[in-house]
Amino acid sequence: MNNAKIIIIGAGLSGLMMAYLLQKKGFEVIILEAESRIGGRIETLTGSNGATMEMGATCFSKPHQNLIALLEGFKIPYFKQHTQGISFFETMSFVPPQKFEISDSEESSFRIVGGTAKLIEKLVEKIGIQNIKTDTKVTTIKEVDNYLEVTDYKGIKYTAEKVISTLPPHLLVQTIKFEPNLPDYIQQLAKKTHTWMGESIKFAVEYASPFWRENNYSGALYSQASIIQEMYDHSTADNSGFALKGFLNGGTYTMSKDERQEKVILQLIKLFGNEAENYIEYHEKIWREEPLTFFPYEQLVMGHENNGHTDYKTPFLNNKLYISGSETASQNPGYMEGAIVAAKNIVSQF
Ligand SMILES: Cc1cc2nc3c(=O)[nH]c(=O)nc-3n(C[C@H](O)[C@H](O)[C@H](O)COP(=O)(O)OP(=O)(O)OC[C@H]3O[C@@H](n4cnc5c(N)ncnc54)[C@H](O)[C@@H]3O)c2cc1C
Repeated sequence: MNNAKIIIIGAGLSGLMMAYLLQKKGFEVIILEAESRIGGRIETLTGSNGATMEMGATCFSKPHQNLIALLEGFKIPYFKQHTQGISFFETMSFVPPQKFEISDSEESSFRIVGGTAKLIEKLVEKIGIQNIKTDTKVTTIKEVDNYLEVTDYKGIKYTAEKVISTLPPHLLVQTIKFEPNLPDYIQQLAKKTHTWMGESIKFAVEYASPFWRENNYSGALYSQASIIQEMYDHSTADNSGFALKGFLNGGTYTMSKDERQEKVILQLIKLFGNEAENYIEYHEKIWREEPLTFFPYEQLVMGHENNGHTDYKTPFLNNKLYISGSETASQNPGYMEGAIVAAKNIVSQF
């Protein structure tokens, strides 16, 4: 079993973590990733004025102990999310927003210095870029005697004794063909397993200065009334780059980018005054338009539904195929912590 070739599908946090841990145990591992970019639902953009803006995973807190231990082990610094000053809560569009202060006694959120992508970069450095094949979208997994044959979209075949998928389970069963078919119960379960944040829209607006802080606003907003639903100050740890960043109402994917951008800036002007108009860059990411994350559900599936289900704990195709990824974790499924927990769970079986 030692030095057996293992194929991991997906170079998101769980695939990379798994490869890192399996290599440490002496296994030969190759990661097949469909995108040219590595990181999956972790993507940090750097603005022209130096703000690092998260289009995917951003924050974590003290209960995310596996993630914190990993960051500390890699000596990747993290910092407390800025929340000082007046925050807003909008309940209805026709009444002024309520103002409040986020109490220091509330559990703090943390962000990685330099952006969440720093963790991805460190894992890639440890694994070796030569062990990650990008632009390699897997289309078929076939059982052949005592090994599995994995075929990509160009028809190139890879073989391994063990294959570990880190795709969100719903995406896996909807986009990869299996020979023989996976058992019906697991197909049905996967079709009803929610992909965390799959329907979300992230936005970020970069500014030359944190004018909201200068006016004693925290930059935080919670709204049920406008296009921005949740927002935080997104300035860098060393206060050299400045941005506001958060989530837009997921239903606005039907609008054009220009329409969303206009509504976002108008909302920011309403909250913070005319200075909000003088932005440097606007960025957004519509995750439901990312076919390597989101696949439309056949029926209504609620947030976190079936995440961490026990049926994901046992392998398939005669113990050769493992279904992993953050959504399968028994703790904090859907989150970065879940991606690490899921990876550790698989590696403990090898
Ligand atoms: C907008 C947003 C905000 C978030 N915010 C937070 C947060 O603040 N805190 C937090 O803890 N978590 C957050 N998350 C969740 C976090 O990003 C995920 O839990 C984690 O990154 C999932 O990692 P993963 O490796 O399990 O899956 P993914 O990152 O989805 O990795 C799967 C990989 O598989 C690849 N792939 C797909 N199909 C194929 C194929 N056929 N062949 C080969 N490769 C394929 C994909 O390209 C991808 O790289 C957020 C997610 C999003 C989208």
